[in-house]
Amino acid sequence: SLKAGNPSVHTTCPYCGVGCGVVASPDTRQPVAGDAEHPANQGRLCVKGASLHETTGHEGRLLFPVIRGHRAGWDKAIEEVAKAIRSSMDAYGPESVAFYLSGQLLTEDYYVANKLAKGFIRTPNVDTNSRLCMSSAVAAHKRAFGADVVPGCYEDLELADLLVLAGSNAAWAHPVLYQRMKTAAREGRRVVVIDPRRTATSELADLHLPLRPGTDTVLFNGLLGWLADGDGLDQAYIDHHCQGFGEALASARAAAPDVASVAKQCDLPRQDVETFYRWFTSTPRTVTAFSQGINQSVAGTDKGNAIINCHLATGRVGKPGAGPFSLTGQPNAMGGREVGGLANTLAAHMDYDSPDSRSKVAGFWGTSSVADGPGLKAVDMFEAVHRGDIRVLWIMGTNPAVSLPDSTRVREALALCPTVIVSDCVSQTDTTAHADILLPAAGWGEKDGTVTNSERRISRQRSFLPLPAEVKPDWWIVSSVAGKLGFAEAFDYDRPADIFREHAALSAHENGGERIFNLAGLAGLTDTGYDALEPVQWPVLSGAGATGSSRLFTDGRFVTDDHRARFVAINTILPEQKACDGYPMVVNTGRIRDQWHTMTRTASAPRLLAHRSEPFIEVHPHDMARLKLLEGHLGRLTLKNDHFVGRVRSSGEQRPGEVFIPIHWNRQFASSAVATVLTESVTDPVSGQPEAKHGRASLTPF
Ligand code: SF4
Repeated sequence: SLKAGNPSVHTTCPYCGVGCGVVASPDTRQPVAGDAEHPANQGRLCVKGASLHETTGHEGRLLFPVIRGHRAGWDKAIEEVAKAIRSSMDAYGPESVAFYLSGQLLTEDYYVANKLAKGFIRTPNVDTNSRLCMSSAVAAHKRAFGADVVPGCYEDLELADLLVLAGSNAAWAHPVLYQRMKTAAREGRRVVVIDPRRTATSELADLHLPLRPGTDTVLFNGLLGWLADGDGLDQAYIDHHCQGFGEALASARAAAPDVASVAKQCDLPRQDVETFYRWFTSTPRTVTAFSQGINQSVAGTDKGNAIINCHLATGRVGKPGAGPFSLTGQPNAMGGREVGGLANTLAAHMDYDSPDSRSKVAGFWGTSSVADGPGLKAVDMFEAVHRGDIRVLWIMGTNPAVSLPDSTRVREALALCPTVIVSDCVSQTDTTAHADILLPAAGWGEKDGTVTNSERRISRQRSFLPLPAEVKPDWWIVSSVAGKLGFAEAFDYDRPADIFREHAALSAHENGGERIFNLAGLAGLTDTGYDALEPVQWPVLSGAGATGSSRLFTDGRFVTDDHRARFVAINTILPEQKACDGYPMVVNTGRIRDQWHTMTRTASAPRLLAHRSEPFIEVHPHDMARLKLLEGHLGRLTLKNDHFVGRVRSSGEQRPGEVFIPIHWNRQFASSAVATVLTESVTDPVSGQPEAKHGRASLTPF
């Protein structure tokens, strides 16, 4: 913990979507501490959070603007960016300019980038790496509830008598939340883990269902039928608060007619399926938490709705200890959703398709119009770059040359793009290698603003370190470019508080009170109030509601036109990247405990490399013997001309025929261990989220 008397700042961890409060010191020799007063973590930190002070050094930082390999001043850099955007707009139209943003950005940075793109350049082509993370959950929420809303709060994960974790290795991906789930175990509490792999999270499980990858909709469709057959429905809730139950049940029965069929399709023991169904039926306080194993799929949205269907059918939404719960991957994926950072949204949770949202937003921003309609989602955006339709691409705070599927083709697209602008705090990444213009952005500890975690809780991320060299905050960089483009009046911000107030006011603008995302209670914050802002869950209504909202839809009224939730009829869609003769192994990708994303920051903390120091391939013992692989030797996974090379680890935690590889290594650290060369650019047709959890390859000794 921090030494007594040492100056300290209360801020927020920049890694996962748990959004833990951190107490940090400007003296970075002092270890950070968990913030005991922050509701998300109540003083806890995982090892990544506890190592934050080790990652604030300047080694490897991007410290000044660079234009085509040469150091430049800010005036020149801003002028070059504005010139590239203006030339492309004039010659090829606004849609030739695209922004690829990040769940690492603060809400204020995100807001300004979205406003410049959609309101002033008028390109709809703004998307974010949150597309890879939870866009399927977003789409499922919108289909079911009428808006992208997580109805519950973290406390529900502790209050639940049955905790179902679907496609989530929370022990490694959301470690502090997992600790909360673990310590909250009460007498009789049960945990079911649904995951093809036996992960660290499975240690908490009373029942682990290692289902065949991609069959989650079958399991939950079977559950819906079981609930209907066994008197497990809350018929009054369905009648008064929902629509579409009959169609959803008919589809569920067709896809999963009985337990025997479910067991066969999911490759699970019949008695285990029955046990899960019995527990779910008999436990009113049930939470189903889901994450990337659900979202990163060609049926990600359907999987989310198959889960929500079962909660609606039992009236278990927005109640203490009961509800579906999407675990967000990134620290500010939720904040990006709030400002409209996804290509299919406009701003402040307003879509393009609502009748007057475009004129409302344009009026609020003081511009004559905004972009016409939805833009290209991440995978399609990079395809448009490859085709030459997008000619100026501005990437902020993310590393798509490693993180997007088929990253070999993404690198080709970046090489073909006439102007690639990258704002980042790190100088050498696989993406900055393709930049024509590099802009040095503030890192954690230097930047100031807000983030929103998985339970809709807005927290301040406060600065406590000076900006090094010529580094600037993202909002300043974007506003400066906007000014150079001739939009200075609309981007006249002096500080993040100015932007936050505007963001909050937009959420409440013109009948904002009717929208679920509403920050009216924060729109009048003074600078001092913003500095002192305590963590708060949206919506934050003015007046009595200014304290925030833990649970939503508690009265069974949703945000659809008729205030009824929608059941969604779900058919079975299996993974598109099927194992086949040439590529017989199923590749499961995922996080390891101590690294974050593409390791550009966490690799600078030596102790975070101790847990897993090199890329690996986990292989079932049967496959080890069959393929003549040796423990500790190198193995090679191959798809077409691409390879992933890693240390072979024998592990009975996989299903035979399936391997697990980590997503983190980039080409700077291990040129042949980039997981995304093995996942193809296939996406969920509703959400556009890539099938990143499921690839295929051949496996041989290296
Ligand atoms: Fe940071 Fe997530 Fe760890 Fe909390 S659980 S300290 S937010 S990485």
